[in-house]
Amino acid sequence: MSMALHALFGGTFDPIHCGHLRVVEALAQQVKLARITIMPNNVPPHRPQPMASSIQRKEMVALAIADNPLFALDERELQRTTPSYTADTLAQWREEQGYTRPLAFIIGQDSLLTLPTWYHAGRLLSLCHILVCRRPGYPVQMKSEEEQRWLEAHLTNDPALLHQEPAGRIWLADTPLVDISATAIRQRLQRGQSCRELLPEAVENYIRAHRLYHTDSQTA
Ligand code: ATP
Repeated sequence: MSMALHALFGGTFDPIHCGHLRVVEALAQQVKLARITIMPNNVPPHRPQPMASSIQRKEMVALAIADNPLFALDERELQRTTPSYTADTLAQWREEQGYTRPLAFIIGQDSLLTLPTWYHAGRLLSLCHILVCRRPGYPVQMKSEEEQRWLEAHLTNDPALLHQEPAGRIWLADTPLVDISATAIRQRLQRGQSCRELLPEAVENYIRAHRLYHTDSQTA
């Protein structure tokens, strides 16, 4: 039986940008996603902290997706005071959605390369499919032969399986290469450069109104 495929898209979104949106919209067309739920995360203390607050990152996502019914926003990770692991969040999502419905988690190619080191990485595919978007500058080869074998064991070229089975497949999507990163956007804004083509207009306006990502905004 084939069922509507719902995908979760996690990240820091500091800020959400056109790279995120353009790529996952193309992915949604390719594999016929019914919905993409964007879930900004709480960043662990040992990792570089986002420059925008949780509320600001959430508000920018809300503005970016306001006119597009493909997208929804999930605030659960931001509402916790502690960072959560993707595997735990996916387990909770799976419990809510039931065990027969197909679910997917979206990542970029850069995240695929580090995925084997994530907390309880082996559990992820028992909870959902993983949809990987191309990203310029990152090799398509995993870092070790063992990781490459793991990848190939789960790969599918048949999008129908993503709808028929609840979890367990990896799909390398043929999405456009979009050379935009939040890091580069923050650097441009710090230098006072425009990000017109890189950000949704409403997000660009929000950043300007809140004076985000300027060097002096950290002490303001
Ligand atoms: P930063 O530069 O701060 O690391 P980022 O631009 O990578 O940020 P994140 O919020 O960390 O954005 O990304 C969330 C997810 O989106 C990750 O899985 C990442 O791989 C993916 N992603 C981000 N930008 C792109 C892009 N231009 N093309 C494809 N995937 C992307």
